[in-house]
Amino acid sequence: MAKIPYRFYLTEEQMPTQWYNLRADMKEQPAPLLNPATLQPLKEEDLYPIFCKELAHQEMDSETRYVDIPEEIQEMYKIYRPSPLIRAYNLEKELGTPAKIYYKFEGNNTSGSHKLNSAIAQAYYAKKQGLTSVTTETGAGQWGTALSEACAYFHLPLTVYMVKCSFMQKPYRKAVMQTFDANVIPSPSDTTAVGRKILAENPDTTGSLGCAISEAVEKATTTDGCRYVLGSVLNQVLLHQSVIGLEAKKAMEILGEYPDVVVGCAGGGSNLGGLIAPFMRDKLVDGKKTRFVAVEPASCPSLTRGKYAYDFCDTGKVTPMAKMYTLGCDFIPSANHAGGLRYHGMSPILSKLYHDGYMEAVSYEQTKVFEAATLFARVETILPAPESSHAIRGAIDEALKCKETGEQKTILFGLTGTGYFDMTAYSAFHEGKMTDYIPTDEELQKGFDRLPKVD
Ligand SMILES: *Cc1c(COP(=O)(O)O)cnc(C)c1O
Repeated sequence: MAKIPYRFYLTEEQMPTQWYNLRADMKEQPAPLLNPATLQPLKEEDLYPIFCKELAHQEMDSETRYVDIPEEIQEMYKIYRPSPLIRAYNLEKELGTPAKIYYKFEGNNTSGSHKLNSAIAQAYYAKKQGLTSVTTETGAGQWGTALSEACAYFHLPLTVYMVKCSFMQKPYRKAVMQTFDANVIPSPSDTTAVGRKILAENPDTTGSLGCAISEAVEKATTTDGCRYVLGSVLNQVLLHQSVIGLEAKKAMEILGEYPDVVVGCAGGGSNLGGLIAPFMRDKLVDGKKTRFVAVEPASCPSLTRGKYAYDFCDTGKVTPMAKMYTLGCDFIPSANHAGGLRYHGMSPILSKLYHDGYMEAVSYEQTKVFEAATLFARVETILPAPESSHAIRGAIDEALKCKETGEQKTILFGLTGTGYFDMTAYSAFHEGKMTDYIPTDEELQKGFDRLPKVD
């Protein structure tokens, strides 16, 4: 067979026209969302005040295996998709590993990440329902940027609550969002009751994702024709992100390849859930032996050290409760943490798969992650996002294991985005100023003690 190319693209005709809903093939379902007031499982209608109807339906639908991607969404996908499947020949050579390493690169769009895949879908359904605006939160800024792009495309006004420390550290992120006409507000803010309460209790707080979510939800539920959209964690987001895995699987099929190990970084779990979905199907349905590895920061270790329990999805406790691996909804990673992936919880779908032993998880300190990022940049020529670099670290370590055992495994990892807005973190690393912080058991216990009592 001809040598596998460095970059492989599907044709437009080969791109997926349906998303894949992994829940349809899970023998045991993730636990249902609960109404925090009654502790009863939520019904689809209960979500209508927060999400637009079609997305509420997708959130609750665990039966439809394949969901048609509307034409309008496919059209916008075609502006920046398919994303390339890249054979990391240079990284393999640098490591001296017999393993074959592939990565699916999602950074080729202005948001610089995979998040646009779900942003487009969410903006489209909101517009189609006749909504007049949407709100969201953003931490590092990729989600806010992606949603700004999508909302501009569909002419839908958007307010973004941006975690205050990122708002200050990344002024250019704000400028990009403003270019796409979004209204960007640092969180916590005085524009919501929950924001004012958090500020009153802790005036110097630099904010958290959970807190920004509370503000965005409050704004959506108190504004006519407005709904909230979220860029990760939710079942609907994993559904949209399945486009990553579907493209990757099809491309590998054409190349005559199939991964032995699939590695991805895990914040709220959307890119990982999307990348692994069709391969996990093969494991659940056909008994394939593929391994799946979630990589998270040691400073925000929800899978590796969290509890599998019901918790709120936000600090303000205004969202439904989800059963997931969590560090407690008021967990805020240490201030020196620069690598993203700072959410306290994890997708209920991935949490369930991990709990049932279908997926593994590892954590790394950030200096180890930036070592991998710089090595990767030098040989592969792409400047990776710190988040994505967790997956690079995980994949490198899998490849180094192969070097020891001599096994020629096929490794696939998700390169979720580029790191151009993270140069402060890169500079800290180059100047030797980056430090590692691993929370103690006692610190984590404080979060667990405050978990809602459900059962
Ligand atoms: C948001 C983000 C992540 C983490 O989010 P998930 O929902 O866990 O995928 C990873 N990489 C990049 C580049 C991101 O922007």
